[in-house]
Amino acid sequence: MALYVHLPFCVARCPYCDFVVYAGGDARGPRARTERLYEAVGRELELRADELDIGFGPDRPPLRSVYFGGGTPSLVPAEWLERLMAVARARFGVAPDAEVTIEANPGPDERGDLAAFRRTGVTRISFGAQSMDAGELRRIGRHHSPEDVAAALAGARAAGIGSVNLDLLYDIPGQSLVAWEATLHAALALSPDHLSLYALTLDDPDEEGITGIDGDHLPTAPGARRWRERARTDQDDDRAAEQYGRATDLLAADGWRGYEISNWARPGRESRHNLAYWQRAPYEAVGPGAHAFNGVTRRWNAAAMGPYVAALVPERGRAGATAAQPGSGPASSLPPGGCEVLTAETAAAEQLILALRLDSGIPEAAAARPPLSGVLDWAESAGLLEHADADGEPRLRLTTKGRLLSNELFARLL
Ligand code: SF4
Repeated sequence: MALYVHLPFCVARCPYCDFVVYAGGDARGPRARTERLYEAVGRELELRADELDIGFGPDRPPLRSVYFGGGTPSLVPAEWLERLMAVARARFGVAPDAEVTIEANPGPDERGDLAAFRRTGVTRISFGAQSMDAGELRRIGRHHSPEDVAAALAGARAAGIGSVNLDLLYDIPGQSLVAWEATLHAALALSPDHLSLYALTLDDPDEEGITGIDGDHLPTAPGARRWRERARTDQDDDRAAEQYGRATDLLAADGWRGYEISNWARPGRESRHNLAYWQRAPYEAVGPGAHAFNGVTRRWNAAAMGPYVAALVPERGRAGATAAQPGSGPASSLPPGGCEVLTAETAAAEQLILALRLDSGIPEAAAARPPLSGVLDWAESAGLLEHADADGEPRLRLTTKGRLLSNELFARLL
């Protein structure tokens, strides 16, 4: 259905960020590790396609979505993006009307060659705007300005990229309700097609035990941990809830569809790629820390770039050495990582949880099945779920209060 490609480089690392990111000298300059990583990602695409050929034969349906995420994938040279897309087309097939998304930062030296991206087949771009307030951007360690967001969006339009998303953050330390509303209005004035609104979460992946050798996250730097400890004191759950509610009302009044807990779209501009995740469709994924799902098993690559590149682009005989060309040097092998085979119970809970994230919710009939029906009854009595109707089918979906408290409901379902 869909392919996710993780390109992990950023100009600088934001102190709140938990994505698998390599920044500074790893991303630019004479010691940059970019070329070998891009080469490794291309090799992984080949090896994953080989596996799918063995399992399903070469006549698989073509991809309906390709998503370049990161990191700041717009830092990728256009020639490399074209090479990776060429492998995807040759080995996976890409449907003529596929959605092809790239994430980008709005800064002038980060947004990349938008016209070249469009020529490569990009149909959708997602800008990490985060805020339209210069002071807030500085406070969270971002280097672009609100004016850069406007210029980036205009550049995407001029390049012919038909669908533009802006990511925005609320619960930024010290962010007032008035300031949040101003950011929303400024973003709307730019006429994007899609908005992703996320509460700023300041977690510690080390504490969660996901930064080990095969973990899908990188350890948190001591400076970032200190920054988060300070920033948390200026966050406020109640204020965040009010900010979410205000955004919900404002966007609904402006004709937006809040089709997922954190995502709003103009009609027809929903993210096909993210819908594949929430609809539990199978998707392939490559790159450090990337997650894939085949309908039964969830698989992830380890986040560490060294072992990832070493497996896929072995040092000796690098030139021309591929798994498809035996004898020309050490063959590429799949990178380290892990996998989880879902039990029937976990799969059933996961299906409900993902469907409940969407405004279409779940069929009432599915909600009536034990053992999870008891939890859903509790959620309805607590005002977290409401009855709705979709094409004549009675359904249950989250209320605004339910969206705010969804983690509590999802934990109980699991
Ligand atoms: S630009 Fe985005 S991906 Fe890169 S460090 Fe900042 S938040 Fe993370």
